[in-house]
Amino acid sequence: MPNHPLRRCTFPGCRNRVKSGRCDEHKPKDTRISASKRGYDHRWSKYRQGYLAHHPLCVMCLDKGIYTPATVIDHIKPVENGQADPLFWVESNHQSLCRDCHSYKTREIDKRGYGAKK
Ligand SMILES: [Zn+2]
Ligand SMILES: [Zn+2]
Repeated sequence: MPNHPLRRCTFPGCRNRVKSGRCDEHKPKDTRISASKRGYDHRWSKYRQGYLAHHPLCVMCLDKGIYTPATVIDHIKPVENGQADPLFWVESNHQSLCRDCHSYKTREIDKRGYGAKK
């Protein structure tokens, strides 16, 4: 088995050796954009609480006759710019979903887009 030559951690001034990139200490913690940057901030989480209190069940599960407590508000028509999107705060664009249905929806449905309009 060939030995992988170790390289210097790419963090400036760090002398730890790594296979690639940065050492554990200097690994970027989370490369995703933070939730608040995308517009999901305190105001939203407050709104979400109230909304879920009134719409406590996942609507996609409900369709199948399954009662699942909803944990997320989904934007029926996906918003792209967080709160800057005119559809972000439109209540008729909101629906309660459980986490599974939400990830299914984002993965399978939002991807295809709604209608041809883009
Ligand atoms: Zn390092
Ligand atoms: Zn569900």
